[in-house]
Amino acid sequence: MFQTPTRLLTGLVAALAVIAPGTPGHPAVRPPAATHPCFQPADVGAAARGATNPRSGDHRTITPAMQRRIDARTARILAGRRVGTATVTIPVYVHVMTSKTGAGNVSAARIARQVTVLNQTYSGKDADHPGGVDTGFRFRLAGADRHANTTWHTDGDSETYRAQTRKGGRGALNIWLVDFGYLGIATFPWDDAGAAGIDGIRVQYSSLPGGSATHYDEGKTVTHETGHWLGLFHTFQDGCGSPGDEVADTPAQASPSTGCPTGRDSCTAPGLDPIHNYMDYSYDACYQSFTVDQVARMKKMWAAYRA
Ligand SMILES: [Zn+2]
Repeated sequence: MFQTPTRLLTGLVAALAVIAPGTPGHPAVRPPAATHPCFQPADVGAAARGATNPRSGDHRTITPAMQRRIDARTARILAGRRVGTATVTIPVYVHVMTSKTGAGNVSAARIARQVTVLNQTYSGKDADHPGGVDTGFRFRLAGADRHANTTWHTDGDSETYRAQTRKGGRGALNIWLVDFGYLGIATFPWDDAGAAGIDGIRVQYSSLPGGSATHYDEGKTVTHETGHWLGLFHTFQDGCGSPGDEVADTPAQASPSTGCPTGRDSCTAPGLDPIHNYMDYSYDACYQSFTVDQVARMKKMWAAYRA
């Protein structure tokens, strides 16, 4: 079952107690060392983290120095290359990891609804708040498969199950539906994960539309994780510091938002916190849009790593 925020909070407080900066984090979310150095709360205050952590399985340390290295590499790759503006349709492969007894067996209808939500949110037509920015990315369900393996269902042997089930090239979005203590974990486009065949996003199955993850049951976790997969950081990356999320039109934010805190302004820099942005941690119903500059970044990352 999906962990309630209360249970999640308990788990995270426990996790925080054993996580020191620079050390690996919770085993359930610790990705391969080569591509995911660790999971630590360096840029998220402990209180905020405890209160708002449901999406933070994908939150791992990206230091400003690492950001500079990623930027330099991206610039080298893009030198002389044109960043496209045409609409890109991304094939989506969904892998339903059920338990031996059938828990987590998300229906084909709900998977179809999830792809619809992806298309709505990436085209600026969020069902809760239409009128957002059209990213130019669209999504097409290319396949769905099911695996009855209780270990995989609970995200055990993640690298194994991803390597064994992943489909398509770097431009294919693979979504593994599992039952773990987080809403989602994503690989970034510049990760070497693609080479190892584990590129994609792992998502709490009950977050799909109509699921039991209260406040996170509209399918926008997949929107958020796909944002990482396309190269976006959280809006609270680096807190109020620099370089932040490297997106000019998302005001700096000290920590993740929880719920939908209208008027929140956690940094002295101009602008209210972007609580309606898909890359914050707000409730699904609070999510509204990406920004123009986030779209530009996604297109750039697509051209560099996934086109
Ligand atoms: Zn995230």
